[in-house]
Amino acid sequence: MLLQVDQRTRTFLDDDALIARATEQAQAVRDAEIALAKSLLEMRETRAYLACRCSSVEMFGGRLGYEGHEIRRLLRLAEAMDAESSVEERIQAKALSVAKAVELAPILNEPSLFDEKSGWVKQAQKDSYSKTRRNARHRMAEIRCGEAVETLELRVPDSVVERFERARVLASRKAGRHLTRDETFEALVDHYVDSFDPLLVKEGKRRVGPTEDDYKSRYIPISVKREIRRRAGDCCEFPGCWARAFLEFAHRRPHRKGSGREARHLFLLCRHHHFFQECGWLVPLGRTADPIWIEGSELIYTRNCPGGREPENDREMRAAAALARRMRDEKSHAAQDEADGEESAAG
Ligand SMILES: [Zn+2]
Repeated sequence: MLLQVDQRTRTFLDDDALIARATEQAQAVRDAEIALAKSLLEMRETRAYLACRCSSVEMFGGRLGYEGHEIRRLLRLAEAMDAESSVEERIQAKALSVAKAVELAPILNEPSLFDEKSGWVKQAQKDSYSKTRRNARHRMAEIRCGEAVETLELRVPDSVVERFERARVLASRKAGRHLTRDETFEALVDHYVDSFDPLLVKEGKRRVGPTEDDYKSRYIPISVKREIRRRAGDCCEFPGCWARAFLEFAHRRPHRKGSGREARHLFLLCRHHHFFQECGWLVPLGRTADPIWIEGSELIYTRNCPGGREPENDREMRAAAALARRMRDEKSHAAQDEADGEESAAG
């Protein structure tokens, strides 16, 4: 038997006495917590905190030496017991932990889940705390959003978390109520896309004349850029390519050959497809809005056939043959240049 000392009275205790005492204390804390939770809920409802010049029950809790989140946790415990009578019994019977009851509070108070209440409590008895918490939060998010939700895990620097919390304050202010972190993230994403997505920006008045009149400039009017992005769905326009983030405006005919800068003269392409197009390895044919793309003499790519197919009609075959011829010529020129270079180096 291990001998232990009661730090307060400096007397020896045996294991059984320690166990009995801790058990008793745990019960006392639980009883006290339940009682305090009920009092706080009552106080919130009657606004009794105003009598001691507190503006909220959290502020009153601060006077008692509690943090705001501790008070909110106790309030949720009281809400859970208030919404479902069996919760208190189960806590007293040690079948349900206080922590689980706290997590269940929003579910038990959600009118649309009235019939599911007892099911949730029973399930929580079986599940771990973290599973209960995860499931309850997921379900509440679904109800709030009115659609399926996904859990995102993010790893960001502390400084960003700080700024996120600041953004939460500002977004809550704008919404006129406290937003959760989920709601804040949603608000930030909406705000960013609404502000910067070229597909959503309203059309202003175009300030530049027809670009064909000014061959020297390389400037592409904003309204043209938007028109192209809308046409392309803000995605690379090469069939089957889903590149979205880094896109470039590609002249259909080289700019130096006097191409205009209207939507019909430009494609929106990713870096790779822009490079292939510029090198002449991919050649567009037909309307800029819905062209076919030819690669060598072999393959035709279209929106309906992003995997590539053989040329089907005369026009496609002629274009493919011309492209193949041109590529052959270029290759033989390059070979000739190389041979010349070697010769002059040798001579
Ligand atoms: Zn691409």
